[in-house]
Amino acid sequence: MPSPLPPDRFTALHIDLNSFFASVEQFLHPEYRGKPTAVVPIQGDTTCCIAASYEAKALGIRTGTRVSDAKKICPEIILVHGSHAVYSKYSHAITAAVERVCPVAHTPSIDEMICQLLGRECRPPVARSIALDIKQAIWKDVGETLNCSIGMAPNRFLAKIASNMQKPDGLIGLLPSQLPRAIAHLGLRDLPGVGSRMEARLNRKGIHTMEQLLALDRMGMHRLWESIWGDRLYHWLRGVDTGDDGAPVAGGAQKSLGHSHVLGPEYRTLDGAWAVAHKLLHKAAMRLRMEKFHTGSLCFNVRFQLTRAQVAQVEKSGHHHSGIEHASWGMEARFPPCQDTLSLLEALQGIWQQCPKGALQQRPFFLAITMQNLLRESDLQTNLFQESGNRSQLSATMDKLNLKFGHTTVHFAGMLPARDSAPTRIAFTQIPVLYGAEYM
Ligand SMILES: [Mg+2]
Repeated sequence: MPSPLPPDRFTALHIDLNSFFASVEQFLHPEYRGKPTAVVPIQGDTTCCIAASYEAKALGIRTGTRVSDAKKICPEIILVHGSHAVYSKYSHAITAAVERVCPVAHTPSIDEMICQLLGRECRPPVARSIALDIKQAIWKDVGETLNCSIGMAPNRFLAKIASNMQKPDGLIGLLPSQLPRAIAHLGLRDLPGVGSRMEARLNRKGIHTMEQLLALDRMGMHRLWESIWGDRLYHWLRGVDTGDDGAPVAGGAQKSLGHSHVLGPEYRTLDGAWAVAHKLLHKAAMRLRMEKFHTGSLCFNVRFQLTRAQVAQVEKSGHHHSGIEHASWGMEARFPPCQDTLSLLEALQGIWQQCPKGALQQRPFFLAITMQNLLRESDLQTNLFQESGNRSQLSATMDKLNLKFGHTTVHFAGMLPARDSAPTRIAFTQIPVLYGAEYM
């Protein structure tokens, strides 16, 4: 059975710093800029380069090149003693710069970050502008020699591949409609997880090129890998997200929905944040019902501003490295799938009660609410609808009135203080969609 073509959207950004260690050294030492530079663990000819600048790479010097060979290729090469502590500090500062644009979901290594895109961010032009903003943020906040290549794709596996397709300072998007032909020219070793041993194994089974690999059907891929990994790979290479069984995720067109908001100064208090969170939830729940989804998961993320003194204190305690000027907190609640505002509000209240409210959590400035693992009505069993009271009906009535008279006409009392906050605008993470009388 052929899987339906996934829509052209990006859900993952993979950020890969170019020649990271060498670029940090070129930032710290302007005299190294534009020159072949290599980072070495210890001085001495018997050791290897652990990183090479782009100028050195152009000469054929790379990670693993022996220092004696590097000197033969380029006698004037600059050799720098590497410092892991310094690179780690820069890595944290880069993560903080990226987070100013888009939350970082995962940092697989010291020079890589993954951002998960949500809602409107997945639209290719929006994703592209987020990627460009990330590059700017790194140059501006951390250092102008720090370039990165960013891959945009409908899953993390492809996003990593895309981040390797253009260097330095690359930006490549792999859209489902262009797959798998957009990657047919790559080598087998360009696939994450395929090293020399795996390549030899594939060769023994008659697969020498990407084209041959892409010609296999799902069963062929399963047999080749002798595991579910082959099934996953089959779908990933075609731009599909998969579940644990290797099959595409059901109803994979949209699996999460959310709203985020940077608080106006007058709302940067615990009470103000709660009122705005309540309003974001109200809007997200309404959209959930419009798009005919249920959700069994609600995530709430809050970022808090720190004072200068607090930043200094956090750094001294060794919990964070410099460059972090905010504290983040987030939590996910899981519950039986629902779509009514009252149940979702209870989940949000449960999360908010858990949120620490100490000295570092007094000035919230950013909130995000995300509903994950969205289920279509057709995916639900009827008994899930046997709920207490008439919550669905109440939500349906609310939606009707709100669509007619504006979105905050009918709501629960908690959001009253925030009724006029979180105004709809083309914010840095979302493009509003027109539903009824107002933008959401
Ligand atoms: Mg890198």
